[in-house]
Amino acid sequence: MLSFATLSSHQFTPVQKISTHSPEDADPKLSTHFSTPSQIKQLHAQLLKSGLPISTLPFPQIAAICALDYPSSFSYARQIFQLSTDTSETFLWNSHLQSLSISATPADALALFVRLRLFNVPFDEFTLSFVLNACSKLSRLYVGRAIHALVEKISFLRSNVYLLNTIVHMYACCGEMDLARMLFDRMLMRDVVSWNIMISQLAKRGEMESARELFDLMPEKSVRSWTALIAGYVQGKNPHEGIRLFEEMQEIGLRPNEVTVVAVLAACADLSELDLGRRVHEYSDRCGFWKNVRVCNTLIDMYIKCGCIETARKVFDGMVDRTVVSWSAMISGHAMHGQGKKALELFSRMTQAGLQPNGITFVGLLHACSHMGLLEEGRRFFASMTKDYGIMPKIEHYGCMVDLLSRAGLLDEAREFIKNMPIKPNSVVWGALLGGARVHKNVEIGEEAIRYLVKLDPLNDGYYVVQSNIYATAGRYDDVARMRCIMRERGVKKTPGWSTISLDGIMHKFVAGDDDHPQLPEIEERWNELLHEMRQRGYVPNTSVVLLDMDEVEKEKVVFRHSEKLAVVFGLMSTPPGMPIRVMKNLRVCDDCHAALKLISEITRRELIIRDRNRFHCFKDGTCSCNGYW
Ligand code: ZN
Ligand code: ZN
Repeated sequence: MLSFATLSSHQFTPVQKISTHSPEDADPKLSTHFSTPSQIKQLHAQLLKSGLPISTLPFPQIAAICALDYPSSFSYARQIFQLSTDTSETFLWNSHLQSLSISATPADALALFVRLRLFNVPFDEFTLSFVLNACSKLSRLYVGRAIHALVEKISFLRSNVYLLNTIVHMYACCGEMDLARMLFDRMLMRDVVSWNIMISQLAKRGEMESARELFDLMPEKSVRSWTALIAGYVQGKNPHEGIRLFEEMQEIGLRPNEVTVVAVLAACADLSELDLGRRVHEYSDRCGFWKNVRVCNTLIDMYIKCGCIETARKVFDGMVDRTVVSWSAMISGHAMHGQGKKALELFSRMTQAGLQPNGITFVGLLHACSHMGLLEEGRRFFASMTKDYGIMPKIEHYGCMVDLLSRAGLLDEAREFIKNMPIKPNSVVWGALLGGARVHKNVEIGEEAIRYLVKLDPLNDGYYVVQSNIYATAGRYDDVARMRCIMRERGVKKTPGWSTISLDGIMHKFVAGDDDHPQLPEIEERWNELLHEMRQRGYVPNTSVVLLDMDEVEKEKVVFRHSEKLAVVFGLMSTPPGMPIRVMKNLRVCDDCHAALKLISEITRRELIIRDRNRFHCFKDGTCSCNGYW
């Protein structure tokens, strides 16, 4: 009798030894009426009622059916397999190999294959493909090579496209892309799967040029081929191309699947492409994808990044199953949008539901505490991470803590905290301290932070700008001039600020100081009207944000042409009253724009949602959701 006793997992205790009868002994009524595990259970119940011996059951078939129903019926199947005396049938082994190859312990499939060979059980292309899949999952190249050699020896398998595809896939998964490509090039016959394997593996590695080349050569493209390429572009930080292909794919009448939807939603999130995101959302609802957790998680992320926190919450609330990713995304979303209380409420609900938070959940929680100035809660969460959940804090958690302490005005404590960190602080950590120094107008702490920042991130102009602002606020204009010199000496270039706004599916981009926009005269006219009203409400341009050496009037002109101002004014002109304006900005919003946008939201009674490099500012009725901390 064969046994699984040598395998590492899925151990079980044999209950009773059963010998199976030959098929002619089996009750025909019993043996033919099942194809699912639940039908087998019914059969089992009938059998017990009728008093017939359990050996009447056709064990190999039962074991094969149950083995495919991984993991729920798998252990039952293994018991039957072990207790059966007739285990020479290939399909029985195959069903077990298939389940094991996709299980959490694919090494068991390799061990089982060794036993199959030991007992001279005949195998077929399916047997080998399951073993190869296990090799792919385990990156076990030497076993994969041995199977490949076995295939080469058997003439009828050598040209089996299905099997060759699995071998190509195995080589690619084991990092042998050149071998995979060589084999693919040598294949006499290829099917759509062969092409898709190569395209998706190249795309996963970011080799988009080669992936595209094959895609263009492919005789017949499937949804999968398009999806692989779209996902590759999105992951490779080229979301525009991803979206362009997605539109092309729909034009030729192909229907995107769940994976395509996830990829294109991620592109929409990257670009704040709300209109397309909404259309994809409608489409996926029509297709019934709302049940898919990954689709829902990506929708939540997309809506959060497009500044629609309420819609994100609606998706979250409507989810049938939620994973830790869904909870963490929603917690971070509330924190990012200045709704710290909602973030903490969600965390309580999450733990009450028995879900284990992960490191990302805590980043969201710490952000929420930082934002609301909940110092003690923040400290408690930070301690609880390790103590209650065994999660070691990473650099981002330390960054959050420095942010929390700095915002609360505990700058000395924040500095001490950085010095006692067990890992080397990065620019984000020092940047958080610099931010605190700006808010609390502490020149000395700012100077300390900038000393480290110029070493860690020497060409990032953002830090010099913040430090200059600190000097300017303190009236130390000589130091402002000195910062300007340092920047020049070190060759630090000011990153041009740009903002985008999407209207009717068209993305409009504004670059700071832009003179080329065709509608600039109208934008200026509207801006001057607004400026008049803003001045009446006490607005004084804050030109300390301009680091250039020029007179005051010139400096005003520069701040008035900041890209987010241009984009917002353009949005106000181009949309009906009451409609929220959503703008994405590549840099941090400056002090002057922040003050101006507050007033504009009050004057125009519009909600202005600005996504900057770090967070969201939701300006409404003269206030901002960031409470002045950003
Ligand atoms: Zn600005
Ligand atoms: Zn703000």
